[in-house]
Amino acid sequence: MIKLVRPRLPSELESELLRLTQELAGTAIVERTEHADRMWERKTVRRDVYRPVKDVLEGMAPGLDCCMYCGNHLADTVDHFVPKSRCALRTFYWPNLLLACSTCNSRFKRDQHRGDGLVGSLLVDPARDDPNEHLDLGLESGMYRAVEGSRKGQWTIDVCGLNEGKRPRARERAWRSLGGDLKEWARARADGRLDDMRYCIWRMRDQPFADVCYAALHKAVSVNADSIFIDVDPRIVALLRDEELRASLLQ
Ligand SMILES: [Zn+2]
Repeated sequence: MIKLVRPRLPSELESELLRLTQELAGTAIVERTEHADRMWERKTVRRDVYRPVKDVLEGMAPGLDCCMYCGNHLADTVDHFVPKSRCALRTFYWPNLLLACSTCNSRFKRDQHRGDGLVGSLLVDPARDDPNEHLDLGLESGMYRAVEGSRKGQWTIDVCGLNEGKRPRARERAWRSLGGDLKEWARARADGRLDDMRYCIWRMRDQPFADVCYAALHKAVSVNADSIFIDVDPRIVALLRDEELRASLLQ
């Protein structure tokens, strides 16, 4: 999972979301969830709200259509971080909307969402929390584990199925291909091939499971870096610490 920065919406879209929330607030509490479901499917809402919100989320997501939970490149739905069934009034609340793949949205996450109240959540929100404080990605294994003591981390791994199916193997491959891209970037820099350097950066940022790249950058400057990268080619570790490369990838 990658830390995200949520941009402001265009003011017209922001106003429309507020108007829809006010409409919902005017309905009886017992009917609100059902009403929210119907409004979400409304033709005009799909066209004037859902589509433009999805466009903004796609720009906010790392890589190409990367799911904000699992990091694959198949994100195609606007997800309610706190499900409509838990808090209908957040159906059109911009900070509650994320981009997700249908596997995370429908198969794993669905309506499962434990919260210690409506505001505090036990799921890591990549646009609010720093995922590195809760989740640790093993680069060689491609498996996530919860940072010690983080209930949020463990719950996110379980609810979003972060270690399910082929996801760990895909991350393991992403780690291997990252090494090749880093060395290719270094060769391009040595030869002064600026276009090729940009292409390598683009590929590293846009690859599916780009969470591997961001986790590697985070780990390379952590206090435990020497033990984490003990079996890794030192050239790769040096590149992960290279200021020019880090600036390009983390801008
Ligand atoms: Zn996903």
